[in-house]
Amino acid sequence: ATVMGHRTKGSDKWGQAEDIVKVFGEECKTPIEKLKKVAEAMVVEMNAGLSSEGGSKLKMLISFVDNLPSGDEKGLFYALDLGGTNFRALRIQLGGKEKGVVKVEAEEVSIPPHLMTGSSHELFDFIATCLAKFVSSEPEEFRPLPGRKRELGFTFSFPVRQTSIASGTLIKWSKGFSIEDVVGEDIVGELTKSLEKIGLDMRVAALINDTVGTVAKARFSNQDVIAGVILGTGTNAAYIEHVNAIPKWQGLPPKSGKMVINMEWGNFYCSYLPLTEYDHALDVASLNPGEQIFEKIISGMYLGDIVRRVLLKLAEEAEFFGDTVPPKLRIPFILRTPDMSAMHHDTSSDLKVVEKKLRDILEIDNTSLKMRKIVVELCDIVSVRGARLAAAAIFGILRKLGRDTVKAGEKQKSVIALDGGLFEHYTIFRTCMENTLKELMGKEAAETIGIEHSNDGSGIGAALLAASQSQYVGVEES
Ligand code: BGC
Ligand code: MG
Repeated sequence: ATVMGHRTKGSDKWGQAEDIVKVFGEECKTPIEKLKKVAEAMVVEMNAGLSSEGGSKLKMLISFVDNLPSGDEKGLFYALDLGGTNFRALRIQLGGKEKGVVKVEAEEVSIPPHLMTGSSHELFDFIATCLAKFVSSEPEEFRPLPGRKRELGFTFSFPVRQTSIASGTLIKWSKGFSIEDVVGEDIVGELTKSLEKIGLDMRVAALINDTVGTVAKARFSNQDVIAGVILGTGTNAAYIEHVNAIPKWQGLPPKSGKMVINMEWGNFYCSYLPLTEYDHALDVASLNPGEQIFEKIISGMYLGDIVRRVLLKLAEEAEFFGDTVPPKLRIPFILRTPDMSAMHHDTSSDLKVVEKKLRDILEIDNTSLKMRKIVVELCDIVSVRGARLAAAAIFGILRKLGRDTVKAGEKQKSVIALDGGLFEHYTIFRTCMENTLKELMGKEAAETIGIEHSNDGSGIGAALLAASQSQYVGVEES
């Protein structure tokens, strides 16, 4: 009887676990009709955000980039890239029309976590110091001429209200950053203070978002590029808009008639989003509760943690990992998206990678194949939901621009440039996103769109924009 009792209890628990997974799977479903509604809501919010400042959760920020690099840019430029997992300094040599990008040198440092939530001067002093070290390796022949300054493009991948191409105030932090004293401050001012403190002679020629850099970099070599999307630690998009579609733009109409808009779609929200109890719990525990809800179900910073939260529930309520809850499972962000991706891509028949990850990261031993299969299923549910929503958002941009259908006699091509670790390394996510976009477009219209990896748009794009904003353009070398 005890054995029987135990078995009944055991299978009960198993049934409970299966129910939890099933309910979660149902709640995360993104049928195509739902995605179309999400895209439609995106278009509505885009218009609202373009109409007035604060008109929508979609900020639709004006980038002041109204002229993309032409390819004629020449000289040596620097770039800083802050906003992902790593911080980078770059030096780029541009050779004009014939030679293009001649050389790129880069140095990458991971940001000490305490600086992400410390004080502004600590963060900016750190950045300035890294940059100074990097500049010191500059070849002699590239030293700026007397009276000239080095020029820098600063990619700062957070929501910034720009006041010009080279200035702007931080609206709020996102991802893993939270430094209260910089909110509302001019980012370029903060950096310049730190640069002056250490005596580094440099002028910030452009302050940009990584999505804007991605557009610039991709457009440099492909005129069909209309938007840049980041699927990385965070997520966001920028696209090229007609100024007459931006009622809130108060300035003179730019010569090009165009303006790059930084959507900040990570903060998008609509009632159709498939949110679950795990998403709510993640949001409440986050550095920015109530904000970046779209980002929290799509981007690399969060996907692994959603899986961890479901596993924790399974452990607590269905004794999924035995009669005690594995303590590591309670640690936020311990399961990172790259590890989730590795488990999801495990093709071995006995799911060896899953077994190893569970053991190494969560200290869970003796998992059965059945259990490992459930873990993979959770990875699938979470990544497919994110990928399909990302596709819906891209579809929203295409709809906004009237490029979601094929017009008679017109073969206009629309290329979306993408970058970010999730896009680059999580193959199932990327493939699902691309297929869903095709599904949304329909067969014929799908042929007019292209998806392109804009490698390192956030770094190279910043240098290109610095070059196109250079004070010395047209000034003869002597
Ligand atoms: C930021 C955006 C950025 C995106 C991708 C988001 O958290 O708010 O400005 O473009 O991450 O890096
Ligand atoms: Mg890259």
